[in-house]
Parts: sequence; C-alpha cells; structure tokens
Amino acid sequence: MQTRVLIPLEEFPEEGLRLCGEADGALFGVDDTGARSVSPLYYELEAQLYETELVVRGSISATFRLRCDRCLCEFDYTVEPDELTISCDVKGKAVVDITEELREEVLLELPGYPKCEISGLECKINDTIGDFRLDKDPQMGVECPAPSGQSVWDALDQLPSK
Ligand SMILES: [Zn+2]
Repeated sequence: MQTRVLIPLEEFPEEGLRLCGEADGALFGVDDTGARSVSPLYYELEAQLYETELVVRGSISATFRLRCDRCLCEFDYTVEPDELTISCDVKGKAVVDITEELREEVLLELPGYPKCEISGLECKINDTIGDFRLDKDPQMGVECPAPSGQSVWDALDQLPSK
C-alpha cells in the first residue's frame, strides 16, 4: 500500500485532477494503547492548479481505535474532517506531497480525552456507577440555602413585637 499521497503536476489536466485511493495508516504515527490507527487513510480529492498554487478539496477519513478515558474500553472512531481544503505553493515542483497536510487534518479531529459517547456508545461507567460522570458540571454549593431565603424569616424576627 502506498505510504504517501502525491499529486503529479506534469501534464496537469486543465479541468483538474481527481484522486481516489488509500494510504497506509502507519503514516499517522498513532500507535499506542490510548489511540491507534486501524485503517488506511481513505481519500477522494479534487485538485486544481492555478499557476503556481495547487488547491486540493475533497474528503478524507481514517479509523482509530481509542480507549475511553473513563471505563478504559476500546472502541473504533472514524475521523472525517469537514470541508477539507489544502492549498500549497508548487512553483518549480514536478510533484507535490500532501501527506503531511492530510495527516494534520485528521489528527486535529482526534479527541484528546476520548469517551465512549463520541462513537454513540453508552459508557459502562455511567451504567454501573449511575450518575458518576467526570464531565458533569460541578454543582457544588448550589444546594446550600441561599442567604436571601433566610432573610425572609430574619426580617420577620426583626419586626417590632410590641
Ligand atoms: Zn467508556
């Protein structure tokens, strides 16, 4: 499998160049217990050449196996960046390597703290420990009686009793 995504510029068709294919997921360099690449990088791109600028649009996707930060279960998550647009200066080049640009677009979409929910799964931690959620908004202190609630009675106490 190819490991780079290359766009040849020689005899570049005026109407643009269409590129579909896949590149080895190893190019992501993501391979540890918290997140690892489990699919190729799939791409469907349309390249246009404007004098010395190459503009690439299209869609890419790649699947990663992530580990939930809460329950430590592994699940697959597919990254599909929206509205991919890459432009690069191609002056004097015969071929452009856009692998690094595509890699960055995908890695930017990888969650830093993956949780089951991002893949539409119910996190086991929520099931077994009920309401214990790390991402729940802290609500400490809200239950405390508000000073204004007491002041009603304070005010009554202060009424002249005579
Ligand atoms: Zn989970």
